[in-house]
Amino acid sequence: MKIIDTHTHLNEERLYPIRDEIYKKCLENNVVKIINNGDTFDSWKVIDSLAREFPSFCYSAIGIFPTEGSGNLQEDINRLEEAIKSTASLVAIGEIGLDYSRDNSPETKAKQKQLFNAQIEVARKYNLPIIIHSRDAEADTFNTIIDSKFEGNVTLHCYSGSFQMGLRYLRHKKNVYFGIGGVLTFKNAQRLVEVATKVPSDHFVLETDSPFLTPHPFRGQLNDSSKIIYVLNKLAELLDRDVEELAEEIYQRSLRIYNIHE
Ligand SMILES: [Zn+2]
Repeated sequence: MKIIDTHTHLNEERLYPIRDEIYKKCLENNVVKIINNGDTFDSWKVIDSLAREFPSFCYSAIGIFPTEGSGNLQEDINRLEEAIKSTASLVAIGEIGLDYSRDNSPETKAKQKQLFNAQIEVARKYNLPIIIHSRDAEADTFNTIIDSKFEGNVTLHCYSGSFQMGLRYLRHKKNVYFGIGGVLTFKNAQRLVEVATKVPSDHFVLETDSPFLTPHPFRGQLNDSSKIIYVLNKLAELLDRDVEELAEEIYQRSLRIYNIHE
């Protein structure tokens, strides 16, 4: 059995110092690849160094988080393009998107949409998939992605929308994927359980978003990629599928989405 964690942050300050230990735990739990998402300017060089330190284990996604733009859009995009050229094992632009949770003023929304759209254009130019962060911005995220007519693969990281919205995405764009993480194991996961059982499962990928969103029964503890097996097991249970078979399907799909060759 092989598993890929399609969304994690091994660069994060709580995980980075114990990366060797996490790497070992991952391999012991069949987690053979992870995609680190660097979403601040400072994170990009750490993401790159991880890919060089753990070749064919760590892959890179880089982008500018909705709230991390400097205010100078052209400068930010130039920096992103420079980093794309130098980042090892780069497989996506992410995480990018919209986050209105702290400030939903019209000015902030407009700025975030500009930054989001500009990064979608970068992904198009370099032929890279995008990994989406969306919080309190469901409709705007949907409209931005669909209106952009972006042809590449799109993963909605830690998908928190309704199953109806999930189906709506698939009616408008065939290559949209839903990142399923630790929330699925939570007791109050009704909304995501509905997604897991009503959205076609051939659009699912697995993720931890570690160090965040630690799955049950470890809530309150630090999350890491090895704990993704609890998400896999829960998904297999909900879909009434054989764990190994489901894992293999999701693994192969993830390699295809991110154009990763073993
Ligand atoms: Zn993340």
